[in-house]
Amino acid sequence: MRKISYGICITLLALCCNALYAKDVQKVKVKKGVSVVYYCKNITPENILRLYEAMNVNLEGKVGVKVHFGEDGNINYLNPELIKPLVQKMNATLVETNVLYVGKRRFTDSHIALAKSHGFTFAPIDILDAEGESEYPTEGLKHYTKVKTGSHFANYDAYIVYSHFKGHGSAGFGAAIKNISMGFASPGGKMAMHASAVPATRNANTCVQCNRCVEQCPANAITITDNGPVIDSAKCLGCAKCIAECALRIFTPKQTKLASEVFLERLVEYAKGFVSQKPMVYITVMQNISKTCDCSAKAPAPFMCDLGAVSSTDLVAIEKACYDLAMAKYGKDPFLDVNGVSGMHQIDYAAQLGMGNKKYVLVDIETGKIIKLNQIFK
Ligand code: SF4
Ligand code: SF4
Repeated sequence: MRKISYGICITLLALCCNALYAKDVQKVKVKKGVSVVYYCKNITPENILRLYEAMNVNLEGKVGVKVHFGEDGNINYLNPELIKPLVQKMNATLVETNVLYVGKRRFTDSHIALAKSHGFTFAPIDILDAEGESEYPTEGLKHYTKVKTGSHFANYDAYIVYSHFKGHGSAGFGAAIKNISMGFASPGGKMAMHASAVPATRNANTCVQCNRCVEQCPANAITITDNGPVIDSAKCLGCAKCIAECALRIFTPKQTKLASEVFLERLVEYAKGFVSQKPMVYITVMQNISKTCDCSAKAPAPFMCDLGAVSSTDLVAIEKACYDLAMAKYGKDPFLDVNGVSGMHQIDYAAQLGMGNKKYVLVDIETGKIIKLNQIFK
């Protein structure tokens, strides 16, 4: 079995994985600059495991499976049973990070309790920022010089990024790139992508001067005045702790109106920051495709049919394959239609940053042969 030794060279590796020889799948040779994306139409636990095996990778050491447990009230998140055989085979840990906004997924204990209530009971769960934040420097990016994740991110030798392909109001769609960028980011990292680094305050005069925010602020940036809290923006680190601490919800991410291309580039750059640190492979399931994401408590019902599931060692190729499958089925850009944002810029910008190939072949794991998009939905 081919071994992957990633170090910080995951991007180079993805570009070199152009001739994967999958167990139980016909050997497929492809040209340089073309990647392989494995495909199955039937979304079953057995096929999710086969999609992983088709990549023929050997992730060594402690493996984390990056999942999304679904917001409280959401019913579109992926059925945990789908990933169960793979997680158990790999003896892996389900990993997530806390979110930015206040709710059950903002705090580690209630986040884990919610995950279990949604059926994620078959493996250990690790909220990566449960014990704080880590930063990794980036180089040559337009928007960031560092990315922020949970301190437990470093504890894993490799990650399987298991993503749900569906719509997203700001990104057009969310899949592997968004699962890595927002998904691995600590609340401070999420704030850096979504908004400005310094929180805003609202209804500050309702402050009861309990001082919890002051005690938790690592930068000593908050002063409580008779008119409520005041943040010293020169000191603030953008960690978002005050947002979680204040029971009156006086702190809030500052809403910065971003051009959609800028938001998409922020996502991609954060994803690049993380894939540069750890070996990662990708499995994406195109099921329950709602116009909004699994962070929505009341996501609308799916607006298009299930499209199947894919796996790849190439982040750009797998994202492009999902997008192309949706285009082929819907007949036009579905996310531009329902969200007013295509999301395609995620793929273009990731390719521009050298994170993978936009050219790929789809290999059907049922037949082991290359399959064309128009054959899938005929
Ligand atoms: S975001 Fe963090 S550093 Fe900034 S004021 Fe809030 S707690 Fe302090
Ligand atoms: S935590 Fe909220 S209520 Fe307490 S001092 Fe800070 S802003 Fe005021």
